[in-house]
Amino acid sequence: MVANEWMGKSDMKSQFLTAVAALALMACSPAADQAQTPAAPEAGASAAAALAASATPAPVPGDDAMRQSIVADYETNLQALYEHFHANPELSLMEIQTAARLASELRAIGFEVTEGVGGTGIVAVLTNGEGPTLMLRTDMDGLPVEENTGVTYASTVTGVDRRGLESPVMHACAHDTHMTAIVGTARQMMERRDQWSGTLVLIGQPAEEVGLGAGMMIEDGLFERFPQPDYNVAFHTFSGIPAGEITYVPGYAMANVDSVDIIVHGRGGHGAYPHATKDPVYLSAQIVIALQGLISRELSPLDPGVITVGAINAGTKHNIIGNEAHMQLTVRSYTDEVREHLLTGIERIAHAQAASYGLTPEEYPDVEVEDPYTPALYNDPALANRAVAAMRARFGDDAVIETTPVMGGEDFSQYERTDAHIPTFMFWVGGTTQARLDDYAARGVAAPSNHSPLFAPDDPEETITQAIEAMTAVSLDILAPTEG
Ligand SMILES: [Zn+2]
Ligand SMILES: [Zn+2]
Repeated sequence: MVANEWMGKSDMKSQFLTAVAALALMACSPAADQAQTPAAPEAGASAAAALAASATPAPVPGDDAMRQSIVADYETNLQALYEHFHANPELSLMEIQTAARLASELRAIGFEVTEGVGGTGIVAVLTNGEGPTLMLRTDMDGLPVEENTGVTYASTVTGVDRRGLESPVMHACAHDTHMTAIVGTARQMMERRDQWSGTLVLIGQPAEEVGLGAGMMIEDGLFERFPQPDYNVAFHTFSGIPAGEITYVPGYAMANVDSVDIIVHGRGGHGAYPHATKDPVYLSAQIVIALQGLISRELSPLDPGVITVGAINAGTKHNIIGNEAHMQLTVRSYTDEVREHLLTGIERIAHAQAASYGLTPEEYPDVEVEDPYTPALYNDPALANRAVAAMRARFGDDAVIETTPVMGGEDFSQYERTDAHIPTFMFWVGGTTQARLDDYAARGVAAPSNHSPLFAPDDPEETITQAIEAMTAVSLDILAPTEG
């Protein structure tokens, strides 16, 4: 996977002495994390298969009117829409055509749509009598990844990001499946207006991958200008879960995500005379190694934490020692205490390494923690239980599986962090067929994770129609008319 990521970045500018996976931004890569946790997909899948063999049969998909309606919609409309989104991804905060298309789809179904909420965000409202307000969210952004899936509708587009850098763009995190499923869910809920009562708010959120979009929509009055939800629900497609399966975590599900920049200062000079310089590349390497001691020697082994140096950019040429190196880190944690320890520890270690190399305090590295950060995602247990019951009623107990938290991040967490503390639930939908997962396992390699140039759902119909069915089932349950 690393090799392929490199292939995708092979035209990076030559002044980057080292440019490691700049695509690994900050958000939503739980599938990759899952693949490395003890709850590996193969183990989960075989456990699920064993359960499936012994448990009572689940309801058979395709045996009722809703399922048939969703499949028909997929064949008539949604497949083309999905392939359009997939072939035309846009980078974070640049989701202009994507948002316009999503808005027009939802408007055509009969929702009242407002565009330009928090940048490119859209809000679609359907009021249908008395009752609670439910918000369903899709994200809209792609990633700076060069697609290498080989699907006929693969992206070949490039985009310019908010900093002006051009790169290939790909829906490598399956946000295209989320948008397609929101449209499908909207159509189901419109067709079933006689089965629910209340208000449905659908949002298309920008910039999930850089952790900014949710905050931008909230700041732009999402909960004041539009009906304030009583519940927020979303799903995310993940590569490591078999298509046809849904997993969820009640309570804390995903991590605090901090992005940290370290500007390492040195004293440049000729590469043949290093003794006359202070080499920032050498110092950066020392810092990379020392930082891992924060995790392995300073945290309790029972407290999760991650520090990944995703990029080091420095230098211009073989024989020149530059003045500066720029390091970009992602830092993950669950509790506020661990988060604080890691963030202060990074600065302490960066400064100490510089001191050890003989730099003066004025030359110590600048350590900057990006604000705002993405807080840990908390799934309201009561809402989770209710949604899971609704999904199990359709798919059977064995297809909706409780799993373990991951260190990926999601700014969906922000919607719960306002003063209103709106109960929030996000679940995962399988994005790779069991046959494909088995094939990778047989070859002893992990299936491509979200954010990989090789990842797109290999059976998008299965993934998207199940997501629609799940979202519709949960929505109908939450918005069920109350008796009397
Ligand atoms: Zn992502
Ligand atoms: Zn994502």
